[in-house]
Amino acid sequence: MPFIVAIDGPSGTGKGTVTSYLAKKLHLMYLDTGATYRCVTLKLLNEKIDFEDTEKIVKALKNIDIDFKKEKVFLDGEDVTLEIRKDLVNNNVSQVSHILEVRQAMVDLQRRMSEGKDVILEGRDIGTNVFPNADVKIYLDASVDERVKRRLKQNKEKGIESTEKEVRQNIEFRDNNDKTSKIGPLRQAEDAIYIDTTNLSIKEVESKLYKLIKSKKRDDKWIERGYITTPDTWHKRLSRKVIKGFLASLYHIFYRVKITGRENLDLDEGFIICANHLNYLDAAAIVLLNKKFIRFVAKSDLYRLPLISYLGHTFDVIPIKRGKNDLASIKMCLKALKNKEILGIFPEGTRKGLDKNVKIKNGAVFLAEKAGVKIVPAGIGGTFKLFTKIKVNYGEAIDIKAYQSDDPAWIDKASEEVMNKIVELSKE
Ligand code: C5P
Repeated sequence: MPFIVAIDGPSGTGKGTVTSYLAKKLHLMYLDTGATYRCVTLKLLNEKIDFEDTEKIVKALKNIDIDFKKEKVFLDGEDVTLEIRKDLVNNNVSQVSHILEVRQAMVDLQRRMSEGKDVILEGRDIGTNVFPNADVKIYLDASVDERVKRRLKQNKEKGIESTEKEVRQNIEFRDNNDKTSKIGPLRQAEDAIYIDTTNLSIKEVESKLYKLIKSKKRDDKWIERGYITTPDTWHKRLSRKVIKGFLASLYHIFYRVKITGRENLDLDEGFIICANHLNYLDAAAIVLLNKKFIRFVAKSDLYRLPLISYLGHTFDVIPIKRGKNDLASIKMCLKALKNKEILGIFPEGTRKGLDKNVKIKNGAVFLAEKAGVKIVPAGIGGTFKLFTKIKVNYGEAIDIKAYQSDDPAWIDKASEEVMNKIVELSKE
């Protein structure tokens, strides 16, 4: 899986310098998306194309050739690295970048250039629009005064003449244009990490981001491994037996457990157990205190932690990425069910979801329908305080075919019905 880092923020926050450093240190391809908009601007200016003339703009976009080689930018084969940083482009780029056709073409180009690669992109809308599923999203910010200071210094180093007034006006003008644009505006993605760099040196920002991305990369590696089911060797089966026996005895020492309705688990086919989720220990009650082998579906983040990852592999826990359409996980679940295995799923999706008023997840019903299996509801009761009583009450298997209809909302309704049954069982 390619690894994608999105760095967004207004101009003059040090994005360029920091991103280029991180690309080298972390072996990522560097894509300066601002440079792509600068190239289009230069092309339109060179060819004297009116910014309102959509037809000519579309034609120019069809023939444009933008390339990055050895830290240089090429437009239609010509080195324009310096030219695209000059005032003429500075003063027009934010207008050009918010022309719908330009934006669509550049976003397409940026996605194509990044395809299949581990990449770090800097821009304005990377985390919100170009790669909304990026692995790491960072939003860099700084005060206008500080950004003017930095841009002046950078221009001087590059041999570009500019006055403070010009730089300030340009930054303020572009900030306003970029933030208020209807097309691809500059906005912090909800899941982006915000960093104010006003009082930080470039070195400090670099080191902060380096640590952050590196640890995310390491976590991602562990999580990806969670999607590889390890072979069911004799030593894996033995470890599972030993760990299960040991943890089950601990469970019985620390809790008085009452299990009812076990007979409902005696089905010939694969099936799904759906339970309410009060505590991390409720999945353990289902998995450990059962002769049958039950594979739980759990958030993929758990695989970040080496010990949990070991347990996850031993008990063939199926990872799932929250809030994403996790096809790999769905495939693993369907394969298991077709193999007549038993899956455990918490339809609340999180602990005490009902108390938090979450929408009941419909994944279990979706899988049951696709695999043609039943759902066994399980109500769990107890406080999980040490030495107290815990109840697990399995109900009769639900055939979700009874809920199926042409109305696409049936799946949500059926999921709620299953949850109602679980709640009933937890109170019995
Ligand atoms: O990053 P840089 O200052 O070179 O970007 C130049 C201009 O390109 C920005 O002011 C903005 O208008 C536009 N841009 C954009 N979306 C991006 C990157 C840059 O609209 N992802």
